[in-house]
Amino acid sequence: MTQISTASTPAVSATSWAEIDLSAIRHNVSLLARMVEPAAVAAVVKADGYGHGAAQVSRAALEAGAALLCVFTVAEAEALRDADIGAPILSLGPLLPGDLARAAALEIAVVVDTQETAERLSIAAVENGNRVPVHINVDSGMQRYGRPREEVQALAEAIRAQQGLELEGVFTHFPDATNPDPEATLIALQQFARIADRTGVRQRHAAASAAAFRFAEGRFDFIRAGIALYGANPAPDAGDTGAGALRPVLSWRSTLLALRDVARGDMVSYGGLWSAPRDSRIGVLGVGYADGLRRALSPGGSVLVRGRRAPIRGAICMDSTMVDLTEIPDADVGDVVTLIGADGGESIHAWELARRLETIPYEIFTGIAARVPRIAVELDG
Ligand SMILES: *Cc1c(COP(=O)(O)O)cnc(C)c1O
Repeated sequence: MTQISTASTPAVSATSWAEIDLSAIRHNVSLLARMVEPAAVAAVVKADGYGHGAAQVSRAALEAGAALLCVFTVAEAEALRDADIGAPILSLGPLLPGDLARAAALEIAVVVDTQETAERLSIAAVENGNRVPVHINVDSGMQRYGRPREEVQALAEAIRAQQGLELEGVFTHFPDATNPDPEATLIALQQFARIADRTGVRQRHAAASAAAFRFAEGRFDFIRAGIALYGANPAPDAGDTGAGALRPVLSWRSTLLALRDVARGDMVSYGGLWSAPRDSRIGVLGVGYADGLRRALSPGGSVLVRGRRAPIRGAICMDSTMVDLTEIPDADVGDVVTLIGADGGESIHAWELARRLETIPYEIFTGIAARVPRIAVELDG
């Protein structure tokens, strides 16, 4: 039987790379935009766009109708401005004392959580001669950066009292929006709406990806879409939310660098964790745990070679991984190997790796190391 592979090698000097399908980003943003209108879509591109490359993801998302970008740090916002992205940016994380002047100069919106920060930011804004848009984060049970509900009104007044600041938004972040039982999120949502109304602030936002799909009444002025942008269903256990129409964006590939024929009983890789139960053909891949391919994927994990599954054998090394090609006899040196993504009729979704590693796609994507080049592709137009 002849296997065909739909994967091909790009012109990069790397043994492992991630293909970022910008047409899928645009598809996902359009899908979200249609679903939530008249609410808008903010594209969450923190952590280098969840490991997809923040600048290229931002441009694609904006082309497809995203109204603004969200990052976690002022440094991430600065990197986008350096990449000539002039769209509105909201930095969601805590505003560090050393970042106040930069935040004012970059013309981004920031989150202010104390009166003291409001006063200091006001000085930076006045010195820069511009107005800094400010958002207040209201806690809904994360116990992270949000302010307790009872402090929000006073904080809003303190911000409004400062020169150079414009209280633009009030928002929250739900801790349990993927829970099949919607009750806790519905209550948090109503409490947030009440507090937000009292402040009279122009923009309200609450829903990340999971809540955007599941709670129409939580979409407010815009949703903050992260994982949905990257094509992973945020809440696969919450029934049919429509997230099934999202398209995966990232394909992680490597190449077959060498073949080894081993005899029954031969051990493979460090520590003899696997020995061949029969004469076997082993393939060596140019990707390892330093690239983010977690050691815990062996035993049990597999990759795609010529559109078929090849099990990982023995310990995953820093730069290399061995796979079993006994059942794929036509596999050859130079073949493209797929760690995440589709090849022929087979595919490996980020959720498959996440389940195996008892984690979530967020950690799989952001765990792909910086040395793995992110290459923009357009699979659909
Ligand atoms: C990361 C983040 C988001 C995006 O979450 P997804 O689940 O990836 O959509 C939204 N809001 C805040 C406050 C975040 O930190």
